Amino acid sequence: MSKIIFGSVVAIFCCNSLLAVSADIIFFGGDILTIDERQPSVEAVAVKDGRILFAGSQHQAFSYKDETTQSVDLQGKTMLPGFIDAHTHILAMEILRTSLDLSPLTHPDFDDILKILKDAAAKGPVTAFGYDPSLMKKTGELNFQTLDAVSMDTPILVVNKSGHIAYGNHAAFAAAGVDDSTPDPIGGSYQKKDGKLTGVAFEVPPIVRLLSSSPAMKGADYDKMAEEAARWYARNGYTTITDLGLGLPIPKPLEDIEYLRKAVHASDAAVRIQGYLVYPFLDHFKEIEKLNDDRFRLLGVKIWSDGSLQGHTGALEKDYKDVHSEGKLNYSQSELDEMVLTAHKQGIQVAVHANGDKAIKDTLHAYEMALKASPAEDPRFRVEHATLADKKLLKKMVSVKATPSFTPLHIYYYGEVFEHQILGKARAEEIDSGKSAQDVGLKFSYNDDSLGILNPLELVQIAVTRKMLDGAVLNPEERISVEEGLRCMTIYPAWQTFREKDLGSIEKGKFADFVLLDKNPLKVSPDKLKEIKVLQTWLNGKPVDWGISVK
Ligand SMILES: [Zn+2]
Repeated sequence: MSKIIFGSVVAIFCCNSLLAVSADIIFFGGDILTIDERQPSVEAVAVKDGRILFAGSQHQAFSYKDETTQSVDLQGKTMLPGFIDAHTHILAMEILRTSLDLSPLTHPDFDDILKILKDAAAKGPVTAFGYDPSLMKKTGELNFQTLDAVSMDTPILVVNKSGHIAYGNHAAFAAAGVDDSTPDPIGGSYQKKDGKLTGVAFEVPPIVRLLSSSPAMKGADYDKMAEEAARWYARNGYTTITDLGLGLPIPKPLEDIEYLRKAVHASDAAVRIQGYLVYPFLDHFKEIEKLNDDRFRLLGVKIWSDGSLQGHTGALEKDYKDVHSEGKLNYSQSELDEMVLTAHKQGIQVAVHANGDKAIKDTLHAYEMALKASPAEDPRFRVEHATLADKKLLKKMVSVKATPSFTPLHIYYYGEVFEHQILGKARAEEIDSGKSAQDVGLKFSYNDDSLGILNPLELVQIAVTRKMLDGAVLNPEERISVEEGLRCMTIYPAWQTFREKDLGSIEKGKFADFVLLDKNPLKVSPDKLKEIKVLQTWLNGKPVDWGISVK
């Protein structure tokens, strides 16, 4: 439609707007995908006071136009509700993202890793991230022996790509005050051999302790980190992000919440932030919850029931294929049951990290027990990752009112390794079973877990194609449609976080949080989804400044 003709349309409908409320902005002129099943696409959207006033025909939208209304011509581009990140770790991601990179994709050789660490240690204490022996061509072991050989005096701390294992030299453990007599914290452990530390730590609590004394965290500018992280997510198309580890990882407990709240309350805020408090801070929940508003929201508590499958710490029903071990549960069944019930009884939503089938089974048992002891209509119990959930476990999720948030990078990065090495073909094919989850009636989300793929459309691409690093497809039966994939990045995570009245689709009354893409995801080949560019995001109807400092 030419501008001249368009002008006359505006003139005509201006006259009809005398009785109507006037819009602040009207979006038109592109593909607008609403993720609202009642009207999946619309011609135009009118916004008033940060909320959607109308979504429907261009004709009707312009009846809300007066001389103060701004018109935004989308010029053939595609607008969707802003993407919702279902599970990430905002400040942890920022700390690790800016740490020394040891990703196996760029550094597949163990000797190369040691050389990089040596060069870095010559300049000062080292914090590195991304190390992952399961994807390396030539591996060795990072521990006191190998890392002390790199440096005896300079602290070196390496965090596994999964975030569930850390490796340090003696200097790094000493800097954190951890020695052979240090007891294991609840929910984690320091590996020991004959009563002596080995330089390896498992799970979040000990890793956080080791990280806290690292140069990456000491003296870090957390205000800046929170702001930069928010803009980084916005640039990837997100308008709401969900932190599954509030309370961590800043040296002073709960301090992270202050930084994140400040970032989203700035006049030029880039995203909304919501999150789950790590369980040990449960007693602070009600007090922090009082601060909830539209920009920052505390939703529930987070528990880790196991580790990661690629690190052999995910808890399985049967041994790993390549190791004589069933992995590691962080809690006994009765401990987990009690933790879940304690929060649930107070009406607090619970999210449990569970990768292995045994961890998922225990988690669902805890949810079942909690529901028995304290019935609830709609608890939306979350299962984080739910990686190895077969059809039986997915059905069980329905019966205990649970909802999974899958991490599809397990398919892409680890599919091959799971298939041939770690799990074997039968179990590998069951990971991230999107189609089965859909078939049993679950609503679920896809997340990046801040582990490497922040692009929401790349997550959809993996879920839709189930293609692995080598291009082979991991169990085509579990592929889902692009439409379902888009719901998993918008309305379903909105629902999982009790925000569906405000977020997740373009519908009257919801927040005017949008993302503009250069192509329509429904009109490109699924293999090209990740190439779609994010052009702009809007929060409350205001264009978001992505910032110049974004990397
Ligand atoms: Zn996580």
